[in-house]
Amino acid sequence: MTATLIEGKLVAEEIRAELKKRIAALEKEGIRPGLAVVLVGEDPASQVYVGMKEKSCAELGIFSDPHHLPAGTTQAELLTLVRRLNADSRINGILVQLPLPDQIDETAVIEAIDPDKDVDGFHPVTLGRLVIGVDTFRPCTPAGVQELLLRSGVNLEGKSVVIVGRSNIVGKPLANMLLQKAPGANATVTIAHSRTADLPAVVKGADVVVAAMGSPEFIRGEWLKPGAVVIDVGVNRVDDPRAKRGYRLVGDVHFESAVKVASRISPVPGGVGPMTIVMLMTNTVLSAERTLKKRTGGK
Ligand code: NDP
Repeated sequence: MTATLIEGKLVAEEIRAELKKRIAALEKEGIRPGLAVVLVGEDPASQVYVGMKEKSCAELGIFSDPHHLPAGTTQAELLTLVRRLNADSRINGILVQLPLPDQIDETAVIEAIDPDKDVDGFHPVTLGRLVIGVDTFRPCTPAGVQELLLRSGVNLEGKSVVIVGRSNIVGKPLANMLLQKAPGANATVTIAHSRTADLPAVVKGADVVVAAMGSPEFIRGEWLKPGAVVIDVGVNRVDDPRAKRGYRLVGDVHFESAVKVASRISPVPGGVGPMTIVMLMTNTVLSAERTLKKRTGGK
């Protein structure tokens, strides 16, 4: 068996086309969605991510408001900026790129963001609403995974899903999303982590495996149930002297062995990665639509 690819690049393209229509409809009402992107310091990976987000805004016609602050920015200065953005009516979404420098308390910054502008979906209010199944912003990477599955026609209802990784930005929110009584969910969800006994046996029981560990090519094809669906969230650099940059990107799943056992698999790169950014754009547009709804009294 050779698995069919679940191509995030194509699905993200489809979502971008839908977003363009939604943005055009908002513009007719005099609203241009706005995203503030805050970067503190010069972490190279963060600079790349922020650049990609700003480029994506430009392509879609979302107003992008960049704030690139020096590495020595204090917590008080950052909180002042966040509060100013909370009050700025041109801004529908606020994204503070993580990680932040050591002198800044990340939790305090996330909690300062107005939950109505929390397009990254990291605020405790957003996550609480997610857990109880109330309409909210879905955190971008888990939302990307859910959309990939939904739009690839993978029906999760009654299926056994194993998520490997329990981080607050991927594993935990995703587990909560997939067990909701809702379309694209209704799964029986297991979360595995580094203390899980006999991970291969846990993975073997899964109809759908989501790998979000940060361990290159850790999950082997032999662990999978034949015909399982595999979503690989991992992005890891491994040295490769043959590659132009001296490294290549691999996921948390050993692709060559998994592709022979799975029925569908998302590649790295080109799988979950492109979905994360498009879900950030989706949340920003959604926030602008909510603003319009409030303005028109819910009509
Ligand atoms: P974290 O490091 O925060 O969490 C990793 C999780 O994996 C932890 O729960 C850890 O367990 C678990 N884990 C690690 N090693 C093992 C193991 N050997 N067996 C079982 N579980 C293990 O990572 P993130 O959630 O932030 O990211 C995960 C991966 O996803 C990374 O490669 C990251 O680069 C990628 N990523 C990709 C995104 C995208 O847009 N494509 C966005 C965000 C992340 P424990 O809790 O016990 O330590």
